[in-house]
Amino acid sequence: MKILVLNCGSSSLKYQLIDMTNEEALCVGLVERIGIEGSVLKQEKEGVEGKLIKEQPMKNHQDAIKLVLEALVDETYGAVKDMKEIDAVGHRVVHGGEKFTKSVLINEEVKQGIKDCFDLAPLHNPANMMGIEACEEILPGVPMVAVFDTAFHQTMPKKSYLYALPHELYKKYGIRRYGFHGTSHKYVSQRAASMLGKDIKDTKIITCHLGNGASIAAIDGGKCIDTSMGFTPLEGLIMGTRCGAIDSAIITFLMEKENLDAQQLTDLMNKKSGVYGMTDYLSSDFRDIEKAAAEGNELAQVALDSYDQTVKKYIGSYIAEMNGVDAIVFTAGVGENAVETRENIMKNMDFLGMKLDKEANKVRGKETVISTEDSKVKILLVPTNEELVIARDTLELVK
Ligand code: ADP
Repeated sequence: MKILVLNCGSSSLKYQLIDMTNEEALCVGLVERIGIEGSVLKQEKEGVEGKLIKEQPMKNHQDAIKLVLEALVDETYGAVKDMKEIDAVGHRVVHGGEKFTKSVLINEEVKQGIKDCFDLAPLHNPANMMGIEACEEILPGVPMVAVFDTAFHQTMPKKSYLYALPHELYKKYGIRRYGFHGTSHKYVSQRAASMLGKDIKDTKIITCHLGNGASIAAIDGGKCIDTSMGFTPLEGLIMGTRCGAIDSAIITFLMEKENLDAQQLTDLMNKKSGVYGMTDYLSSDFRDIEKAAAEGNELAQVALDSYDQTVKKYIGSYIAEMNGVDAIVFTAGVGENAVETRENIMKNMDFLGMKLDKEANKVRGKETVISTEDSKVKILLVPTNEELVIARDTLELVK
């Protein structure tokens, strides 16, 4: 069975065609600048050198998906002879609100449910929906599944997800913690349990998804009990360009002092903050920040130190919440690659039974135990694979 996994953003689309007989990604592609000048599709095929590049106008997601299907049957870079070979489509959907606690087969009711969450994820859900509707047009009759970023976190108890705001606001607008990156937290926690040789039901795990966006989750017995992202993906850790948790009074203070409106503040906190803002707009990429810090840039050093400390704080608080932990897991762009960042986060954690093996830690993007033999808590590097989870859930539901 071959499954197409689609992750539609507002002007971009990431995709993979996965062969479920061996869970191998046959083709991996990216379409950028949909609906704006300079639209381009780039696709790579496993085992073939080079890239297929198609530069042509794409006015919407339907145009983009048509081109994806053409690319998938390309003689050199494609992986199927006919698009009829695509058995199912798995869609990443960012927000499932409280309605969706697991992946579902898409039908009219599900589509309405996704639309009902537009207000909660105005940048993401409409784009995800465009992908779904475009596929319905172009691949009629092919079953489709929606896999939600929020679903895995729906097991959180009320004490973790309710904010200390008037309760009527939760009832009126659904203002609560939802949590994101759920597909990733679920995948890496399951891999971690298997690396530990333990049943996930008897395991306490803290997963650190540190990418451009970053979140941490406390997973007890395979269920998420708390996570750092909240009502939106802005809360929690310091990120590339997002500020994470700040004193909310700063928002009204800035509105008055800088005369900013709601949209300008949203932009400031989402796009101009994080390590990017902290370093006077040096870069949002941790590679640049690490380089600058090594060259003596003080702001870059403070940004990194502050970042590491925030991750530590969450780890500490989640250990307290779960009354212990068996493993700390690092994943995503920074978590999988930033050797020094991992080292600094795990520094001085021996009181909590965690000892990083500095030599073993010199690794990137490979499943590895990076704690010492005698570390009571295991520290693991587990590359995430959200596309595979989407494909597996899709297979399960269409079987
Ligand atoms: P996204 O949230 O966009 O999916 P990723 O998980 O792909 O992000 O992470 C991308 C980020 O990973 C980059 O912006 C960069 O900061 C970081 N990164 C990638 N490689 C390295 C590296 N070798 N060292 C430090 N950071 C890295």
